[in-house]
Amino acid sequence: MNPRIYVTHLSIYLVLASLLVGCQPVSPPEAEGEVEWADSEAPPPGAAWDGEAFTFHKIRDDIYHAVGTGNLTVGCNSSIIINDEDVLIVDAHMTPAASWALRQELKNITDKPIRYVVNTHFHFDHAHGNQIFPDDVEIIGHRFTRDQLVSGASKRGRGWELFVESVPDRIAAIEARIAEEEDAGEKTELERQLGIQESYLAATNAIVATPPTMTLTERMTLTRGGREIQLLFFGRGHTGGDVVVYLPEERVLATGDLVVNGIPYMGDGYLEVWADTIEELKRLDVDVILPGHGQAFEDLEKLDHVQAYMRDLWTHIVAQHEAGVSAERAAQTIDMTAHAAHFPQLSEPGVHPHAVERAYALLDGTEQ
Ligand SMILES: [Zn+2]
Repeated sequence: MNPRIYVTHLSIYLVLASLLVGCQPVSPPEAEGEVEWADSEAPPPGAAWDGEAFTFHKIRDDIYHAVGTGNLTVGCNSSIIINDEDVLIVDAHMTPAASWALRQELKNITDKPIRYVVNTHFHFDHAHGNQIFPDDVEIIGHRFTRDQLVSGASKRGRGWELFVESVPDRIAAIEARIAEEEDAGEKTELERQLGIQESYLAATNAIVATPPTMTLTERMTLTRGGREIQLLFFGRGHTGGDVVVYLPEERVLATGDLVVNGIPYMGDGYLEVWADTIEELKRLDVDVILPGHGQAFEDLEKLDHVQAYMRDLWTHIVAQHEAGVSAERAAQTIDMTAHAAHFPQLSEPGVHPHAVERAYALLDGTEQ
């Protein structure tokens, strides 16, 4: 895997854009609700699986951080918590194919059954694998997450348009490059990338957005064998319903996209309060964070740096908004280079338009 993936607010788009392949149009399956692989070992559409879709980083005994290798388009990381009798997975990836691959590869680590899947939030790259899990698996998320998945919000909006609906253009671009490429090695690599993306296209067409079966609004504690697992909501941040998964004994925290290893996607976020929510999170006794994107990390000062960035960015955006500057222009000119020491991608002015568009929409009251 590439540790650079997801660590920058610009490269998150560029890299995901290269990884993700969507479909056009992204239409629901013919038989909505009848697409079902949960009781079958048969792979779902688009599961062009080579057995190595994930690298399982061992964090502690029976705790793993599963990070995509790039061989299959999986989207987010998963955290794997193996209990005395069962397994809890944090986040379910972006397609049924990706979640199915995780389930297959997990068999190399444990033969215990998956009993719980936590959706840290409603975004497609964390929740669109839900449908492959059988009825005896509880899918847990914030009430907000359930509402968003029920309403179809995971299949529309800035992120979906940016990462998924735009993919046919990227497929066409790769095909054009293949047609022009004369170097045999380069051509082979491009064809490999094309295959990955075409698989993702098929996998995306099979998605049936499936909401959590259990919800919380503040906290939930699971006791599984000798382990306590806390699901906690600290307030608005990356979305309106971000749940983190905390293991107090092991001092391990899975954060979804509330905290990633770098600057997170902000297109559905609440930038005004996000840093405050992270401040609440910092009260937990934590040794290692397992983020929804990027590698696990122990350097908790990263939280301070992203908080400073968020607060500064919000101040800039509010000033631009008050001055009547368009969101587009503000995104081009806001200068965050003061934070480049911690986020090297900020070497020149400009921030991602989606962060500004979202903040403007909240300031204008056109989004909630
Ligand atoms: Zn997200």
